[in-house]
Amino acid sequence: MERGTMRLPERLPLLLLAGEEVLLPGSSLRVGVDSARNLQLVQGRLLRGNSVRSTIIGVVPGPGPSGGGDPDQQLPRLHRIGTAGIAVQIVGSNWPKPHYTLLITGLCRFNILEVVKEKPFPVAKVEQLDHLEEYADGTGELTDLSQEFYKYAVQLVEMLDMSVPVVAKLRQLLDSLPKDTLPDIVASIIRTSANEKLQILDAVGLEERFKKTIPLLVRQIEGLKLLQKTRKSTPSDEKRIVTIRSIRKNNQIPGGQLHFNGLEQEDDDDGDDIVMLEKKIKSTNMPEQAMKVCMKELKRLKKMPQSMPEFALTRNYLELMAELPWNKSTTDQLDLHAARVLLDSDHYAMQKLKRRVLEYLAVRQLKNNLKGPILCFVGPPGVGKTSVGRSIAKTLGREFYRIALGGVCDQSDIRGHRRTYVGSMPGRIVNGLKTVGVSNPVFLLDEIDKLGKSLQGDPAAALLEVLDPEQNHSFTDHYLNVPFDLSQVLFIATANTTATIPPALLDRMELIQVPGYIQEEKMEIAHRHLIPKQLELHGLTSQEIQIQHEATEGIISRYTREAGVRSLERKICAICRAVAVKVAECQHKVTESNCGPVSEKVKESVPEETKEESIDDVTDLALPPEMPIVIDRHALKDILGPPIYEMEVSQRLSQPGVAIGLAWTPLGGEIMFVEASRMEGEGQLTLTGQLGDVMKESAHLAISWLRSNAKKYHLTNAAGSFDLLDNTDIHLHFPAGAVTKDGPSAGVTIVTCLASLFSGHLVRSDVAMTGEITLRGLVLPVGGIKDKVLAAHRAGLKRVILPKRNEKDLEEIPANMREDLDFVTAFCLDEVLNAAFEGGFPAESRHGILDSKL
Ligand code: ADP
Repeated sequence: MERGTMRLPERLPLLLLAGEEVLLPGSSLRVGVDSARNLQLVQGRLLRGNSVRSTIIGVVPGPGPSGGGDPDQQLPRLHRIGTAGIAVQIVGSNWPKPHYTLLITGLCRFNILEVVKEKPFPVAKVEQLDHLEEYADGTGELTDLSQEFYKYAVQLVEMLDMSVPVVAKLRQLLDSLPKDTLPDIVASIIRTSANEKLQILDAVGLEERFKKTIPLLVRQIEGLKLLQKTRKSTPSDEKRIVTIRSIRKNNQIPGGQLHFNGLEQEDDDDGDDIVMLEKKIKSTNMPEQAMKVCMKELKRLKKMPQSMPEFALTRNYLELMAELPWNKSTTDQLDLHAARVLLDSDHYAMQKLKRRVLEYLAVRQLKNNLKGPILCFVGPPGVGKTSVGRSIAKTLGREFYRIALGGVCDQSDIRGHRRTYVGSMPGRIVNGLKTVGVSNPVFLLDEIDKLGKSLQGDPAAALLEVLDPEQNHSFTDHYLNVPFDLSQVLFIATANTTATIPPALLDRMELIQVPGYIQEEKMEIAHRHLIPKQLELHGLTSQEIQIQHEATEGIISRYTREAGVRSLERKICAICRAVAVKVAECQHKVTESNCGPVSEKVKESVPEETKEESIDDVTDLALPPEMPIVIDRHALKDILGPPIYEMEVSQRLSQPGVAIGLAWTPLGGEIMFVEASRMEGEGQLTLTGQLGDVMKESAHLAISWLRSNAKKYHLTNAAGSFDLLDNTDIHLHFPAGAVTKDGPSAGVTIVTCLASLFSGHLVRSDVAMTGEITLRGLVLPVGGIKDKVLAAHRAGLKRVILPKRNEKDLEEIPANMREDLDFVTAFCLDEVLNAAFEGGFPAESRHGILDSKL
């Protein structure tokens, strides 16, 4: 882009810098990108297509470390002036979590006129501020200033060691660059605080900019003089170090034209580093084969010019090898009694799971080895699977590391990339080992049911090797290219469902089902665990906040509908946040009022409701706020908004042709509405709501059965004919269309729904049902009864219709829930219909009613 001709687009996407960083025009800055907003910008804008270098972004200095954070949070207040820039280099990866480093070269200043979009990354309407022609018709004073500046800049550079190429280049630049660009460029090289840089950024007028930078330049010159005086011994080295350190410290590269490698090469710290690295490797006690490879690579490294890209690659490799815990491990401390106490104190309920975990630990202790099946906890999200894994590590005194497998579809995620690839890296297992720093951690393979598959090989096959005790003592990550012994790692897996776990993996695992919780269990978990945990996280005490039982009950029944307690925990977190703000505000008021009269500013920050009280009366504000803040049903509404799940069920059942079924999903049981309508047509059946084949068959079966029983129940079409499909089309819809639904268990619900449609009667609004049907009208047993019943209970329903042959499953249902619900077990569809309609579904004429309704 040429000087003078450059015009900024009217709108720029904004990159928000963290606390201390400032990019000035004409210089370059390396920026780590890991906040959500900035990541969205990189992924959504820069990495899309080939547009990296042609996309101009607005770089805005520091709203603080969290500034670029959660895009759902409000945008922080932005600094008004920023620097438009181009990302000249992007390096990084999406894994283990997305992180990129951008090298951005600053072009010119801009002014934010208006933020036009906040999500997923901010976009602002901007006004270009540096119009580089300004200098040409500069005033006399400006010319003087620029001369003065130039003089100092030359003085500074000549104090440095001119034999260093980068310094020589800098000297040349001073002459070749237009003078008006010098303040920005020099300011980015010399040592300045973030605040000073901000001031320079804000100095839009060239004159002001020269004036602001000259003192900084002079200060640097004086500092350098002092340094050279005190350490006269090796002046040239000194000069060199000052340049490089200060340039590095500021993380800036002058001019954008200078090459960073140039700077690197000047630094002979690297030589020392290699010696240190060698020492470190030798002290690791790694197996002979690995040591041999390391020595060979070290030898190559020493011969390599440091500017070669391979130098960094090899060095990274050797650093990883030196860091891996080849011979470091923790000593297991297994006291079964203590383990039991710990598991009990960390987790409420889950008796079956805890018992099985203790057995497993006991057997391990007796056999003293790890060979045996791998435990896999199967259950809906938020039921404590990960948390139990963590407790196991704690009881054993081992390190814990979670490997998220959701969406992993490339075997190199597990096994690493070969080092010949650019950007190659080790797999997640080796990375985990490096992170924990010991060879015997507990690895939690999270969501093993969500492994994908792709052309890049099957990750399940790689995992098999990791988990196989016959093979895993010599697991070879492609990046390491030497075996690492994984036999001491304790693997535990979690899954939402077993249906999608590859059979070969399933074969290696012992499955332990973790069902969802009932309301009472959730109450206990909330008060014993979640609330104390969240209070501590938010720095609150029970003297400051008290969450009443009615509030917890309210959250569970009206603000969440889930099998586990994850949303519940999130809502409690939201409440704590709100209270923490209140408490902090109160403390703020107390301190301020102790310091003297209340300033206007404080008055503004006082919440509306207290403003009316005599705010000028200082002693009044000093009074301790009313503590604890009690969270009851009303407070809940204030903080969380109106309830999310209220009335929904009965509202939806206010018309004929709707019934509630019960479905099992990997996320736990759920209630599922089935809706039907009919219209004039040729007897077509339309099904919507992402249904699988089995579900479609159930719908056809249901219609056939109803047609053959139409006379018996006096079901008629709109024209009053028993031939239900005569001149009639039927549309069946299963709402929540984004979720694929399949399985035979909706059979009874479809029949009930259609019976309601063709009879004009409402289905009872407090009944849910599940069961497969046959053409002859029998009701066959189905799976997932406990989860389904939990879901019906959660939704506040009162009656559950089940297949007769599922009666035995009711034993698993906790006694108090059995009291709340009325179970009807049905052998045939007649019984289902009788239980589903108020007062039964008699086989007698309803014709009159039907006619009057239609
Ligand atoms: P999962 O791995 O099953 O999705 P997590 O282990 O992440 O669930 O649990 C979510 C949250 O709920 C964690 O904070 C966990 O400590 C808490 N939790 C779940 N079940 C229990 C329980 N039975 N007792 C105490 N806390 C629990």
